[in-house]
Amino acid sequence: MKQRPLLTIVMYHYVRDLSRSRYPGIKALTTSEFSGQLDFIQKHYTVCSGREVVAAVKGESKLPQRACLLTFDDGFLDHFVTVFPMLEERGLTGCFFPPSKAIVERCLLGVHKLQLVLAVCEDAKALLEKVFHLLKPHRRHFEIPEDAELWQRYAVEGKYDPIEIVLIKRLLQARLPEPVREDITDDLFRRNVAEDESVIVDEWYLTVPELKTMHRHGMEVGSHAHSHRFLETLSDQQQEQEILNSVELMLDIWGQKPSDWIMCYPAGSYDRRTIDILQRSGCAMGLAVETGVVSNLKDPYTLPRLDTNDLPFTENSESRWLR
Ligand SMILES: [Zn+2]
Repeated sequence: MKQRPLLTIVMYHYVRDLSRSRYPGIKALTTSEFSGQLDFIQKHYTVCSGREVVAAVKGESKLPQRACLLTFDDGFLDHFVTVFPMLEERGLTGCFFPPSKAIVERCLLGVHKLQLVLAVCEDAKALLEKVFHLLKPHRRHFEIPEDAELWQRYAVEGKYDPIEIVLIKRLLQARLPEPVREDITDDLFRRNVAEDESVIVDEWYLTVPELKTMHRHGMEVGSHAHSHRFLETLSDQQQEQEILNSVELMLDIWGQKPSDWIMCYPAGSYDRRTIDILQRSGCAMGLAVETGVVSNLKDPYTLPRLDTNDLPFTENSESRWLR
């Protein structure tokens, strides 16, 4: 017998008035799509707070029928300017997961630099040529396959992106050695987006006072680790540091030692070691990026989520996830 979904967790990133923003090429949810999706969610689900879901995970209470949790990754300013007032107006709450490095050190993370480079890119083929060109000098220090080999291994037709963009993303988000990815992304960013990232940082990320305001209004603030690296690829000590730094930020925002807090794995990357650290650090549950709904809470550190694009953007739509 098919189990009824117990909890549907929806994942959001950018939510903005896209056409009037400075980078309309960014892959974002528009304000009106978000509003329409909230209509849909309110029609079919009961939106819960992070605390209600944590209480259910701990067996202290039960979730309502068709429970839904709204989650917002990456600490974008959009979450204060656009999302927070829209949720409050409807009497809803959400969970927010800022990477502490971006918020505290005010620097643009590699993952977002790359998104900006792609947002202003008009010629995917030329951009890939540029990446291959920038790769050359790194071959002296790192074992990197030849261009043709990289193409053969990693270029696949994407659902939303042309094949060149898929390859660029895979190379610069994961496949190349970390220092190489960082160096090439920085170079592309400086050439194509801005010489000085500090101008963009302040329109990109939340600040501590904004996060405190949201928290005071009942919004949950959890951890998205520190620098948005793939936790699986890090040493034990690095993993621990990534998580500790983010706990420091929560301590500041909560105004007290965070307990039963929620982890959201950057890029969905975690392993057994991550979960061990979380269990030792007062974390109650972890959110992954595997697509799906939660049918039970037995594995609270590996909860699947739906992407916003998996659900409709208008109230009176159908969705396979309702069945
Ligand atoms: Zn993220």
